[in-house]
Amino acid sequence: MEVKTSLLDNMIGVGDMVLLEPLSEDSFINNLKKRFDHSEIYTYIGSVVVSINPYRPLPIYSPEKVEEYRNRNFYELSPHIFSLSDEAYRSLRDQDKDQCILITGESGAGKTEASKLVMSYVAAVCGKGAEVNQVKEQLLQSNPVLEAFGNAKTVRNDNSSRFVKKMLWQKLTPMTLSLDLLEKSRVVKQPRGERNFHIFYQILSGASEDMLNKLKLERDFSRYNYLSLDSARVNGVDDAVNFRTVRNAMQIVGFMDHETQSILEVVAAVLKLGNIEFKPESRVNGLDESKIKDKNGKMILVFTLALVAYYARDALAKNLYSRLFSWLVTRINESIKAQTKVRKKVMGVLDIYGFEIFEDNSFEQFIINYCNEKLQQIFIELTLKEEQEEYIREDIEWTHIEYFNNAIICDLIENNQTGILAMLDEECLRPGTVTDDTFLEKLNQVCATHQHFESRMSKCSRFLNDTSLPHSCFRIQHYAGKVMYQVEGFVDKNNDLLYRDLSQAMWKANHSLIKALFPEGNPAKINLKRPPTAGSQFKASVATLMKNLQTKNPNYIRCIKPNDKKAAHIFNEALVCHQVRYLGLLENVRVRRAGYAFRQPYELCLERYKMLCKQTWPHWRGPARAGVEVLFNELEIPKEEYSFGRSKIFIRNPRTLFKLEDLRKQ
Ligand code: ATP
Ligand code: MG
Repeated sequence: MEVKTSLLDNMIGVGDMVLLEPLSEDSFINNLKKRFDHSEIYTYIGSVVVSINPYRPLPIYSPEKVEEYRNRNFYELSPHIFSLSDEAYRSLRDQDKDQCILITGESGAGKTEASKLVMSYVAAVCGKGAEVNQVKEQLLQSNPVLEAFGNAKTVRNDNSSRFVKKMLWQKLTPMTLSLDLLEKSRVVKQPRGERNFHIFYQILSGASEDMLNKLKLERDFSRYNYLSLDSARVNGVDDAVNFRTVRNAMQIVGFMDHETQSILEVVAAVLKLGNIEFKPESRVNGLDESKIKDKNGKMILVFTLALVAYYARDALAKNLYSRLFSWLVTRINESIKAQTKVRKKVMGVLDIYGFEIFEDNSFEQFIINYCNEKLQQIFIELTLKEEQEEYIREDIEWTHIEYFNNAIICDLIENNQTGILAMLDEECLRPGTVTDDTFLEKLNQVCATHQHFESRMSKCSRFLNDTSLPHSCFRIQHYAGKVMYQVEGFVDKNNDLLYRDLSQAMWKANHSLIKALFPEGNPAKINLKRPPTAGSQFKASVATLMKNLQTKNPNYIRCIKPNDKKAAHIFNEALVCHQVRYLGLLENVRVRRAGYAFRQPYELCLERYKMLCKQTWPHWRGPARAGVEVLFNELEIPKEEYSFGRSKIFIRNPRTLFKLEDLRKQ
């Protein structure tokens, strides 16, 4: 019996790690390398797709490839992201199961590219008709718009996502896009070697003279305080060309010209806010005062201290921009929303910001890494634990596999009483002098003994003599590695306060979009309650996201970054090995191998294969389980290859499945 060789071809390594012999960390990495060297960037672990960023365009995503993978079985062709996309799409279509595609991996590993490939595959194979086509085009074109406003160059990735994106398809038509959690502090300050969001540079580079005049902007980046200069240009990126692409995409997505104009005006306003400077005035009534430096400034804001004035200015800029971003998303959703109101099954594609370790890590990295920690948790829960629990449920013999469960780290961050976020909130809301140092002290009191928490502040600290850990920092041993967080700025960033006068001023603005972005500025709607802190908002969003994911059938793409140089053809074994370890990929294979690669309820199995056996065809009278027994006996499938669970048949090796599939085709 011919077994489809694409998975077993030794020349290009083994396509499914479950079939790898012998299995060790070395053989795992070698297999990945061998395949990478042959431009095979995808490898399976059962139904999980491991993807290595090739850092160069590959000719494997053409319409012909789409056709090749369409309606084919997962194991029939060589591993590909299209195969997973097809599988998920078909489960949605035929079995009516909600699907989600979870894409994980560190910054620069290729998550966003993967999410776009999945979307374009689904767009190619789903629904037909002019209306559907228009909606598809709009959904695909929302990508350049969102990336212009929500992505930026970072040290790790020239096009790094700074928000969480979830795209939803409703059975045959694309539906909505929901996203959140923009890293808004980037608007006013960027780490060394990084840029602000792409759109700022795109406008200045690509707008016509006329448009710049209208927006009262100058072309020169260096005129703007909010734009970092050391990395204003990105290799291989033409901001002017991208600006045209974005404007074109905005048109397709459905923005009217006047809306685009309004959006660009807000972006320009943010840039100009950054140039407002304050000069300290003499003391009035015993208080320090500062006023806007520019004499021509029309709106004079008076603050007690220049420092406070700058803080308020930046808070306003961040709010303007992040609210603009949320508004854009809502607006895009309005135009692409499927017309039907009936609840249908959905498929979601989730693309988040990847795990980050920089030299200086602040509140933003803390939040981003927390989000990754939670996704890893979901992976562990759903894949590994679920796998073992299913064996127990089905009464199938099972050898226990040890794996690291990161629930303990999630708890360190999010526990309602003793978690870092809860303590940060407590500090922020406490009366009296609150500083980043008092926050760190508090952390030390509560977390000093936690296995995954390290700092030198408290006297009893185990890390008292660890000079690599400055006093102003704490370190968390994340699932993906140790990260040292600089505590400076945590309190402010979490507070994220916007003065009420500023909201009111914005609401009074003679600009309908800006007015719409600050509804709470309406004096008729004054709300004296303190808005939730950035940390608690984030935690709540993450919790909603996780709850939502748990109700769906997960499909995983695990992205790996082959080198730190953003370069093609380089496979840095140590770097890959580190990712393979923390992603728990080897445990993933072990779990798969210890058990059974495939399982199916008896009814479905019998239905599909009953044609292969005279006794079961065309009708089997009796329990489905007995039918499958008869079927497998007649086909002489070796006994050690399968087990009978309570409700499902468990097949050890995918080869058995290939055999059954081949027989069906004969
Ligand atoms: P972040 O967490 O920072 O958002 P990411 O995981 O989303 O990172 P991507 O932006 O998807 O990373 O990938 C980084 C770059 O790698 C892309 O801009 C592209 O140049 C290259 N790349 C990624 N995947 C592929 C692919 N399949 N084919 C070709 N190039 C790719
Ligand atoms: Mg990304």
